[in-house]
Amino acid sequence: MFDNLSDKLDKALHVLKGHGQITEVNVAETLKEVRRALVDADVNYKIAKDFTSIVKEKALGQDVLKALKPGELMVKLVKDELTKLMGGDVAGINLSGDPSIILMSGLQGSGKTTFSGKLANFLKTKKTKKPLLVACDVYRPAAIDQLHVVGEQIGVEVYSDRDTKDPVKISQDGIAYAKENGFNVVIIDTAGRLAVDEVMMTEISTIHKAIQPQETLFVVDSMTGQDAVNTAKSFNDVLNFDGVILTKLDGDTRGGAAISIKSVVNKPIKFIGTGEKMEAIDVFYPERMADRILGMGDVVSLVERAQEQYDEEEARKLQKKIAKNQFGFDDFLNQIQQVKKMGNMKDLVGMIPGAGKMMKDIDIDDDAFKHIEAIIHSMTLEERTQPSVINASRKKRIGKGSGTSVTQVNQLLKQFDQMSKMMKMMQGGGGKKMMQMMKG
Ligand code: GDP
Repeated sequence: MFDNLSDKLDKALHVLKGHGQITEVNVAETLKEVRRALVDADVNYKIAKDFTSIVKEKALGQDVLKALKPGELMVKLVKDELTKLMGGDVAGINLSGDPSIILMSGLQGSGKTTFSGKLANFLKTKKTKKPLLVACDVYRPAAIDQLHVVGEQIGVEVYSDRDTKDPVKISQDGIAYAKENGFNVVIIDTAGRLAVDEVMMTEISTIHKAIQPQETLFVVDSMTGQDAVNTAKSFNDVLNFDGVILTKLDGDTRGGAAISIKSVVNKPIKFIGTGEKMEAIDVFYPERMADRILGMGDVVSLVERAQEQYDEEEARKLQKKIAKNQFGFDDFLNQIQQVKKMGNMKDLVGMIPGAGKMMKDIDIDDDAFKHIEAIIHSMTLEERTQPSVINASRKKRIGKGSGTSVTQVNQLLKQFDQMSKMMKMMQGGGGKKMMQMMKG
């Protein structure tokens, strides 16, 4: 996420590192680079210029903080301003109303349908709500099918009516259906078009007026940079929406949209999409995003994601197995699946302070576990529970079955063995000992 921008900002702020004091000259030099980095990231020129003027004013007026090193001071000022620019505080969604109605808007391909599913899943699991999805795209039957597929995947009911060509009626019928059947949130997925046009705008604003949603969300593909900002402006002029959803932040995004959208439409970014899976949704925290842009990582989000996947019952079972020396490859596979559920690997690494920068050239993707999974899948039940039975001929068979080599099978066996030993050590109070050793 935002690798290029992070890199350039890092270099710009480095300029100050060698100086003992903040002066007008070195501040100007640094901020020129910061501005260039922002513009390159597709931030609107005026926003970038205003941004650097504010930081400059603050930097030169910082008497109190003279004790700090200039580099650190500048990073702090840039971080605070970035946070402010992206909205300051986190913005929640309005779930009042019974049912609460959430209207999705945005261009075709922006990720509306995917996000509707992610939001339904998020509300269902996090906020114990009972959502209903409503399919209002009357032009593309495939869009209705897609929402049904998503609904099935997450176990959320989808209301659709293929015989009706009036999206207002479908949305109203959907809301009535929700009331009759005890759903307390209705998420309405609407039709988008490839570009802003009058027919789409009239349609979405007619639906908006007719159903008066508690929350109108505008979904936009962050990869489109300044176009995203312009589209947001057009939709906001017509809908006066409540919040922005930035999708595809896992892609090769320059960051411009995330940084400029709030100041152009004066509406907060509420959620971000970070992948195609239903779990790849995050509440947007401006400060955490600023941390990530500046390469400071986002440990809080990382821990939160881990906690979401943490199942106490499972953890207890696992502990017992480890204690009894019964930790096998099936458990290992299970653990891998848990990690994968936390999200895209590159994204996770980016949350570790400093790691994003260090590992940006290393190709990590969701396939990182592909070989391991294939190897384990090629093992028999006996081999999975008792890896010690895996002899040379079995290794050959497993390698063949999984499309890997004996060396790769050996590697995994070795890793597994080391991991089991380590787990055993942590269990037997060794964890504490290890921590003490590390503290020196
Ligand atoms: P819609 O036309 O606005 O409903 O857009 P879709 O929900 O059909 O999404 C368009 C494409 O973008 C699909 O292939 C989605 O899988 C993909 N997509 C949606 N959100 C994300 C995201 O956050 N990250 C990535 N990488 N792909 C996404």
